[in-house]
Amino acid sequence: MTQKEGIIIKVSGPLVVAKGMAGAKMNEIVYVSKLRLLGEVISLSGDTASIQVYEETGGIGPAEPVFLTGQTLSVELGPGLLENFYDGIQRPLQLIEKESGSFIDRGIHVPGIDRERKWDFKPIVNSGDSVSEGDILGEVQETTLINHKIMVPVGISGTVIEIHSGEKKVEDTVAVLEDEKGKHHKVTMLQKWPIRIPRKVAGKRIPNEPLITGTRILDTLFPLAKGGAGCIPGPFGAGKTVTQQTIAKYCDAQVIVYVGCGERGNEMTDVLMEFPELKDPNTGEPLMKRTVLIANTSNMPVAAREASVYTGMTIAEYYRDMGYNVALMADSTSRWAEAMREMSGRLEEMPGEEGYPAYLGSRTAGFYERAGAVKCLGSGDRVGTLTAIGAVSPPGGDLSEPVTQNTLRVTKVFWGLDADLARRRHFPAINWLSSYSLYEENVLDYWKKEVADDSVEIRGDAMKILQEESKLEEIVRLVGMDALSSKERLVLETAKFIREDFLFQNAFDPVDVYTSLKKQYWLLKIIMKVYYSAQEIVEQDEFEFDELKNLPVMAKIVRAKDIEEGKWDEFEELANEVTSAITALKK
Ligand code: ADP
Repeated sequence: MTQKEGIIIKVSGPLVVAKGMAGAKMNEIVYVSKLRLLGEVISLSGDTASIQVYEETGGIGPAEPVFLTGQTLSVELGPGLLENFYDGIQRPLQLIEKESGSFIDRGIHVPGIDRERKWDFKPIVNSGDSVSEGDILGEVQETTLINHKIMVPVGISGTVIEIHSGEKKVEDTVAVLEDEKGKHHKVTMLQKWPIRIPRKVAGKRIPNEPLITGTRILDTLFPLAKGGAGCIPGPFGAGKTVTQQTIAKYCDAQVIVYVGCGERGNEMTDVLMEFPELKDPNTGEPLMKRTVLIANTSNMPVAAREASVYTGMTIAEYYRDMGYNVALMADSTSRWAEAMREMSGRLEEMPGEEGYPAYLGSRTAGFYERAGAVKCLGSGDRVGTLTAIGAVSPPGGDLSEPVTQNTLRVTKVFWGLDADLARRRHFPAINWLSSYSLYEENVLDYWKKEVADDSVEIRGDAMKILQEESKLEEIVRLVGMDALSSKERLVLETAKFIREDFLFQNAFDPVDVYTSLKKQYWLLKIIMKVYYSAQEIVEQDEFEFDELKNLPVMAKIVRAKDIEEGKWDEFEELANEVTSAITALKK
């Protein structure tokens, strides 16, 4: 650490202004006061620096020192990230708790990655091989679910002159590379990366595989692609957290990074308590074995919230670079934007819309643009994806506010939570009329190939029925049910099935919470069979609509959800039964 230091001239909450900082750089990490609180330089003017401090600044005042470090705010990357709970600046919460009791003391600096733990390093390159940045040198089994790839750090390439297998700590040298100039580079399993800079990739790919969540309205109607970006705006209590957490638990990403930006105090505690208990439905292994949790504890100031989404994003990119499908959830990005607004206010910057800084839009875009399907750095065709899902909590559910608007501009999936639906206990309370996915075209081929040829057509028809329903409801409201033709009543009847027996899904029911794509297809197909086969029938003279409604097979449709995954014969039988029972009504 350098000896350079500045002097505090002003303290305003999480913002500290210091002079004598001519040697500082933008985004440099500094230690503030004798307590050595962690801070980051966020603006520089002459020898005066504004510093965002990540710990409580109470009791700190002018004339105290600020120590420069010459380093930028970075995260540590290496084996040991998974299964960890971190705060917004990657301090492991369990370790901090051990050092200072459950109330976090100030000025405690615990490294993000355990230095003492040993990992069995298995090289996959040999001495004499030439390697370049991003190439995989070897692997360690980080958890039962994830094989951690040790990659050549960015900016280094050369010939392997030493490679060491066996039990290693993260700071031990696992390889030595000689570059073209004959210089030797020791490579360890520990890397650092500045959180505000996207990690380097070889190229972008078009996201074309769905991120399978098991939530029917998401997968079937508004699919998110692996490598895509989506947002869940919704008023308080509409289901943002339940939706995000359900996705985190069940989606088919290999690695999950969950950032809790402190929506409500106890919410992150729920996650911290609940996640370690959960099992991966596919492997039976604890879910934490593929998860990194980032939580802002209640006594951390807003600045840490601002940093936490970048900390999470950088960790997510690191696993993507290994070739994994990674999903990052941020709940709620509104709290992140508010942290930005607060800092901007203290910096006395010119405020933009609703007091948010003018750069809210570019910061939001910069964040979501770090999602993507990429060709990873290094030789070979390694492809990794990073899917980003951000919850937004617009005050009063008003979607025209700046955070929602800026998010919608850059995300291609909009899952709009609806207070009305939530009030009526229709969950997930995602509005099927206003939500959309711009990845539809990308992933429909996958459905056709992997699920069924007619899946796309059935889905399209179901969406039309839902839209027609909303128009018909208007007519019913004005002139009553009698004004509708039988065909129109059939639309309403089908839509009711779609809503109640397909879209409705209870996240707290251990079976209902997850439905495979194939089962989603069959459930919807059975419902749509009613519509397809009844169209002609209902137009017959003197047809009584109740004849259709009272068919015994209708009750079976309601229970179709209970048919187990994999018993596709039973689904098909039911679909055929629906068709034949309805066709039998032909006069
Ligand atoms: P938000 O994060 O938007 O404030 P929550 O995610 O905490 O809202 O949801 C509020 C409540 O709504 C939950 O406590 C739960 O009772 C109910 N809820 C939300 N989504 C579902 C769901 N998919 N299944 C069942 N209940 C749900």
